[in-house]
Amino acid sequence: MYCPYCKEELKVNNEELYCKAGVSYFSKHMEKVFNIAIDTSKEVKVQILKVESSEAGRFFCVNCGSKMMKIEAMHEVCKCCGFEINKRMFYEIVEINPHCSFR
Ligand SMILES: [Zn+2]
Ligand SMILES: [Zn+2]
Repeated sequence: MYCPYCKEELKVNNEELYCKAGVSYFSKHMEKVFNIAIDTSKEVKVQILKVESSEAGRFFCVNCGSKMMKIEAMHEVCKCCGFEINKRMFYEIVEINPHCSFR
């Protein structure tokens, strides 16, 4: 998995996903949410054509490391694999798993 903030590959540290560049830990809960999103990404891919003209999003894809595309505020999707960050995930990433170089 890749860090959604900086696309650094996430390492496991004390059983939690960890981004060295951002001194950022991702909770077990967040890991689970990422895994579920990766599982459902194949279904999302069907809708991706609509995203073609969208602007670049705020995050990188946790699944493949590509830059996410912004569908609407706090809702982003990866064009390459269909990984989706919805509003709830967006909020959780920013609020619960801060990253030192993110603003
Ligand atoms: Zn990072
Ligand atoms: Zn992706």
